[in-house]
Amino acid sequence: PIGCVQNPVTGREREWGVLSPAERAKRVAVVGGGPAGLEAARVAAARGHTVTLYERSSELGGAILIACRAPGWEAYRQSVDWLARQVAKLPIEVNLDTEATADLLLAEQFDTIVVATGARPRRPYLPGVDLPHTATVADVLAGRVSLGRRCVILDETGYTPGPKCADFLSLAGHQVEIVTRHYSLGEDIGTTVRAVLHERLLRRGVTITTLTAPIEIRADGVRVMHVLTGEQREIHADSVIFASGGVAQDALYHTLAALPNAPELHLIGDAVAPRHLRHAMVDGARVGRLL
Ligand SMILES: Cc1cc2nc3c(=O)[nH]c(=O)nc-3n(C[C@H](O)[C@H](O)[C@H](O)COP(=O)(O)OP(=O)(O)OC[C@H]3O[C@@H](n4cnc5c(N)ncnc54)[C@H](O)[C@@H]3O)c2cc1C
Repeated sequence: PIGCVQNPVTGREREWGVLSPAERAKRVAVVGGGPAGLEAARVAAARGHTVTLYERSSELGGAILIACRAPGWEAYRQSVDWLARQVAKLPIEVNLDTEATADLLLAEQFDTIVVATGARPRRPYLPGVDLPHTATVADVLAGRVSLGRRCVILDETGYTPGPKCADFLSLAGHQVEIVTRHYSLGEDIGTTVRAVLHERLLRRGVTITTLTAPIEIRADGVRVMHVLTGEQREIHADSVIFASGGVAQDALYHTLAALPNAPELHLIGDAVAPRHLRHAMVDGARVGRLL
């Protein structure tokens, strides 16, 4: 099958090629201005619904605004920039710097609420996980933390965030080691991107340590264990960075769903389960057509 990360209709032309007008125009709230919420808002408004979008930060784009800060990933931003431009062209009321709460949404008496609230970074369950020299990949790419010279990245996902962070930090002059329990780094990354990322890391002297799992974060680094032999050792580091995926932010959805007279509700994107840009786009495109 073919597909396009930026255009969810590609490969689904028979199903989604024609955007049909809504049978009945509804008042729709979309909570979250990441790719899932933007695509849902765009499609719903294009079909004739009256859409109000809420984004708690001051900018549309969600986690993509952080993901695109890694070197070579700047083009990722184009997907959300395009969506934001389409949203601006359509009759969609956009409320930035606005945290949508259940009370706010219920007071507006929407017919339908689409919850696209994304995920927050996950920290692993390890002793020492909250020590002051720890951070998540999102903290690092967003520039929210200052880091020491020696950085160790603990990659639990096998996807892009860990290697992207290693690339970002090595380019900034840090000495970087990235640790994975898998047989190789980035096992869930497509082969083309994976090879390019590997080459960049190796050329900049990043140490790639495989088959190794962290067991404790310490003030001077990480205690790790070889996953096959059980042999333990220390990796000395000034900063410890977690690439541990995300936790769905679905509390608003469940609060609304528990109400006896809840309006029509939909949960989409990383708020269902932390995944990737293409899943967020498909979720938004699907729900926009369902309403
Ligand atoms: C560091 C990092 C690197 C990544 N790298 C890649 C990659 O290389 N490739 C890839 O495909 N994917 C990558 N991703 C994942 C991708 O960014 C997400 O899958 C995608 O952004 C999910 O879209 P979303 O719209 O569901 O959620 P988000 O993009 O998280 O957007 C949710 C939005 O909802 C807003 N919000 C939350 N609660 C409220 C509320 N109550 N009221 C108003 N607004 C609210 C948030 O402020 C946010 O803007 C990466 C993610 C991170 C964090």
